[in-house]
Amino acid sequence: MSLPVSDAVLLETLTSLFGYTTFRLHQEAVVRSVLNGQDSFTIMPTGGGKSLCYQLPAFLMEGVCVVISPLISLMKDQVDAARSNGLRAATLNSTTSVSERNTLYAALRTNELDLLYLSPERLGSHGFMDYLKTLPISFFAIDEAHCISQWGHDFRPDYLALSALAEHFPHLPIAAFTATATPRVAEDIVERLSLRDPYRVCASFNRPNLFYQVLPKDDLNTQLLTFLQHHPGESGIIYRTTRKNVDDTAAFLQKKGLSVKAYHAGLPDAERAHTQEDFRQDICPVIVATIAFGMGIDKPNVRFVIHADLPKNMEGYYQETGRAGRDGDPARCLLLYDQRDIAQLLRFAHQIEDAEQQQIAVKQVYTMMDFTQKDSCRRAFLLSYFGETLPTSNCGGCDICTGDVKREDATVAAQKVLSAVVRSGNRFGSVHIIDILMGANTQRIRATGHDTLPTYGVGKDKDRRYWRRIIDAVVVHGLARIEDPEYPVLQVTDKGWAVLRGQEPFLTLQQAIRPPRKPRQRDTNGGVLVNGELFERLRVERTRLAREASIPPYIIFHDSTLREMASVLPDSREAFLQISGVGRQKLETYGAAFLAVIALYKQEGNRA
Ligand code: ADP
Ligand code: ZN
Repeated sequence: MSLPVSDAVLLETLTSLFGYTTFRLHQEAVVRSVLNGQDSFTIMPTGGGKSLCYQLPAFLMEGVCVVISPLISLMKDQVDAARSNGLRAATLNSTTSVSERNTLYAALRTNELDLLYLSPERLGSHGFMDYLKTLPISFFAIDEAHCISQWGHDFRPDYLALSALAEHFPHLPIAAFTATATPRVAEDIVERLSLRDPYRVCASFNRPNLFYQVLPKDDLNTQLLTFLQHHPGESGIIYRTTRKNVDDTAAFLQKKGLSVKAYHAGLPDAERAHTQEDFRQDICPVIVATIAFGMGIDKPNVRFVIHADLPKNMEGYYQETGRAGRDGDPARCLLLYDQRDIAQLLRFAHQIEDAEQQQIAVKQVYTMMDFTQKDSCRRAFLLSYFGETLPTSNCGGCDICTGDVKREDATVAAQKVLSAVVRSGNRFGSVHIIDILMGANTQRIRATGHDTLPTYGVGKDKDRRYWRRIIDAVVVHGLARIEDPEYPVLQVTDKGWAVLRGQEPFLTLQQAIRPPRKPRQRDTNGGVLVNGELFERLRVERTRLAREASIPPYIIFHDSTLREMASVLPDSREAFLQISGVGRQKLETYGAAFLAVIALYKQEGNRA
C-alpha cells in the first residue's frame, strides 16, 4: 500500500496542520517512507521532532494510525497537543472509563479518528489484536521503541506484545521511534519488531541548544540559589540522588522564598501527581527531584537541568539533561560534583553482587570522573560516548569551549595535601588533613601531635574551601584514593607519589564559581529584538486560556511562537497564520484572543 503525495501537498499539510514552513532534518524522509508503505526505524534525539513524523502521515492516510506509547501521563499530553493542531486523536488505556471507551469504539468503527494512542498492555490484552483487525488502520507508530529491548536501559515486558504486530498485520507499515539506542539495542529493536527492510534514520545525538557546564560543589545551597536568582521565572529541574537530599534542598530554597517543590518516590502518590501537574502547567516552575522525575513529562520549555550530585553514568546524564530545551530554545545543563559523590557512587557500585555488572558500574563512575575533569569539549566527550564525532573543535556551547574554565597548575598545592596525608600515616580523612594544612588547634590535632608535622600550617594563606577543592581534585584525579567510603580515609597512590616527588605536574581545571552567563539568543528572535512587555502580556493570555481549557500553556503555543508574535506584531488573521507554530486549527481557536492583545498593545501607542 502506498499513497502518492506531491511535495506541494506535503508542504501545504505541514503548514496548515502544524504552522511550520520547513521540515526538520530527516522528517520528510520518514514521512515519505510511511506514505510509501515501508517500515522505518528512527533514532532521533529528544526535541528532534519525532511526533510530526507519524502525525502528518496519520492525517493524510485513510484509517487510524495506532500509536503505542509506554506512559499514560504522556499519552494525555500527546492527545491534547494533536487535537490542538486539529488532528482527531484519542487514547485507550487503563484510565479510560467505560463510557469513554464506548464513544471511542464507535468513532473507530466509523473511521473518525486520525490517531489512537494505545498502551502496550492494552495491545497485548486478550483478543485485542483480533479486534484491531476489524478496524481500518493506516499504520502503526511505536514510540520509545527501545522499551522492547532487554539490552536497553528501560526494558518493559509489556512491549514484547509488539513482536506479534508484523505477523498479524503483514500489509501495514510499522514506524518505530526512539531517542536512545546503542547499535546493539538498535539491532535488537529491528529484530524483535520483525521490521521488514526498514528505512533507517540515525540522527545525531547532539543537542545544539543545550549549554553544558560542570562545576565543583563549593557551597551547594548558595550555588543553587545564585543560579535560580539569575534565572527568574524559568522552568527547570534540580536532580539529587537521595530523597533526603531532595527534601533538604527543596526546604532550603523554599525558605529563601523560591517557588519550588520536592518530588521523590517517598511522597504520597496524590502529592506527586499534583506536583507533576503544577510543573506541567508552569504553576510551580522548578522541581527538586530524584531522577524518577521527568520520565512521564514532555514539557518543552524546561530551561535548565541541574545535577546537584554526580550522576552514576553517561546514559543517565544524557537522558536527564535531554529533558531541557525540547522546544529548541537555549537551555542550560549544570553539573555539580565533589569527591563525596564519587565515593558514594563507588560504594553503590561495589554493592552490586554480579561481578561483571559491578565492573561495568565502576567503569561508569570513572567515566563520569573523566567527564568532570577533562579540559576538552564537554559536548565532544558526551557524543563520543555514543560513538559520534563532533565535526568541530569548538562547540561554542560548553564551559570549556567558551573559555569559562582554565587550566591551573596546582602541583604545589597537591604536594602539600599529599605530604600531609603521608606524614599523618594515610589514616585520616579530609577534614583532619585540612586542619593540619590550616594549622588548626583542635583536640584531635593536639592528641595526635600533628601540630609538630612540617606541613602543619603550610596552607594558612588559603581558606578551607580552597583546600576542599584541591582535595576533591586530588581524589578525582586518582592521586589519593578512599578505600572504604564508610571510613573515608585518604591514601596516597603511586600516581600521587609521582606528583609528591616532583616527577609529574598536577594540572586541574579552575572553574569559575560564578553565575553562568546568559545565552546570547535569549532576548532576540532571529536578530530582532522582542517587545518584552508584549511578550509578557501574551504569556499572561496564554496562561489564562490554558487554565480555562485545563491544558498546559505549552500546548497552546511555545515561547518561541509568542516571541515571534511579539516581534512581528501581526494585525490580521493572515499575518497571524504566518507565525511559526500557528496552523489552521490554532488560528481558529486562539487567533482572536492573541490578536486582541496585540491590537491593544499597539493602540496604547506602542510602536510596531
Ligand atoms: P521528540 O518527540 O522528538 O522529542 P517533538 O515531536 O516533541 O520531539 O518535537 C519537538 C519540538 O519541535 C516540538 O515543539 C515541535 O513542535 C517542534 N517541531 C517539530 N517539527 C518541527 C518543524 N518542522 N519545524 C519547527 N518546529 C518543529
Ligand atoms: Zn564544547
